[in-house]
Amino acid sequence: MQFYSTNRQCQKVSLKEAVMMGLAPDGGLFMPEHIPVIPKAFFNNIGEMNIREIAYVVADMMLGDDIDSEDIQRIVNDTFTFDVPLVRLEEDIYSLELFHGPTLAFKDVGARFLARIISHFGSPSSGRKVKVLVATSGDSGGAVANGFLNVPGVEVYVLFPQGGLTPFQRAQFSIADSNIYPIEVIGTFDDCQRIVKETFMDNDLRAETSLTSANSINICRLLPQMFYFFHGYASLIHAEGGDCRVVISVPCGNLGNLTAGLLAWRMGLPVSRFVVANNVNDVTSGFLNSGIFTPKRAVRTVACAMDVGNPSNMSRIQELFDGDIERMRLFMKGYSYSDMEIINTISQTHFYDNYIVDPHGATAFQALKDDLKPGEKGLFLETAHPSKFARSVTLATGMRFDKAIPTGAKVHTPRISASADALKKILFAPTIHN
Ligand SMILES: *Cc1c(COP(=O)(O)O)cnc(C)c1O
Repeated sequence: MQFYSTNRQCQKVSLKEAVMMGLAPDGGLFMPEHIPVIPKAFFNNIGEMNIREIAYVVADMMLGDDIDSEDIQRIVNDTFTFDVPLVRLEEDIYSLELFHGPTLAFKDVGARFLARIISHFGSPSSGRKVKVLVATSGDSGGAVANGFLNVPGVEVYVLFPQGGLTPFQRAQFSIADSNIYPIEVIGTFDDCQRIVKETFMDNDLRAETSLTSANSINICRLLPQMFYFFHGYASLIHAEGGDCRVVISVPCGNLGNLTAGLLAWRMGLPVSRFVVANNVNDVTSGFLNSGIFTPKRAVRTVACAMDVGNPSNMSRIQELFDGDIERMRLFMKGYSYSDMEIINTISQTHFYDNYIVDPHGATAFQALKDDLKPGEKGLFLETAHPSKFARSVTLATGMRFDKAIPTGAKVHTPRISASADALKKILFAPTIHN
């Protein structure tokens, strides 16, 4: 499979090149040059397959030209060392719990898969360390750190917005004496993401180091996220005892999840439509409502992993619809919720459904309740374990979590201005690698 850049100003590349580069040299994002369609027969007994079996079929269609089947099977099995249960909350609404991985958020899936793909392709013989950059709005940092922890030949640099994370999230990538280096950026998540992109555009730097990105700009973070859309559909069909009209609701920030869902649909997943949930950072839902895409400066909310004002995967979504905004708007409906509304949903869900939803999943649950039509069955992605956002969840439900919240090791954490130059100094500072 070849991959092209959404900016179309550079040549197509192989899977290995796309993964190891992260961002295309012209600043665009990589996309598969054609999207394989899974034969209809696959869906006849998908309800009887487990997530590893499903993931293998999907991965093999996308990556089978470039990676041996046994290796794909192994990478898939090592990725899913945990379950992804579908839980029925109401007559027609289900929660797909994506938070049973080691860092308690869905990002474990993409990060674990990507870490294994990079190890697979990385050539230790070159003697150069692979430097992995990741900008985090909260949960990517921990998932990527966990996926790459003490992998030989790899250094991970985690850029996070000053003051934008919970102590729990920060603790997950502040690991003493490890190959993980946290960096605090005086700015927002969008600034972190911009710095990563600018650093990739620095040709001198790329010539000197092997640099890649572990954000959803990396195509191999994104592809594995398709697996659980197929799996969620399969579990729902199984639970309903047969075919039905399925609507999937996605809590959206940088749009990695939504892009993966749409890719799954293009591969043949029989989903009727998608619902797109935002917090007050409503760039995507606003776009779907008005047809106009206006990036904004992100503000902080209780669903902080969705505090994104300029989602980078929007360019991939445009590709998937050939830029046809009207078709996008027919297939996806957008909603946005304030902190008050999110807390209220968590509280109501606890009371009426006897279920604890986290602030991110709460937006998607609410959007589904607001949008589901009679005769449809809906599932929403529950993207994080509620204990990760204990403060808001306790506020909404009174429920306390006995798990002690780790405060994190005291790890040297440089604080830099929101510029690529400041990051460059750190990438080449000898002191950090003591
Ligand atoms: C990252 C994250 C999101 C947003 O996902 P995107 O793929 O960036 O749109 C939603 N919920 C949680 C818990 C997250 O960590």
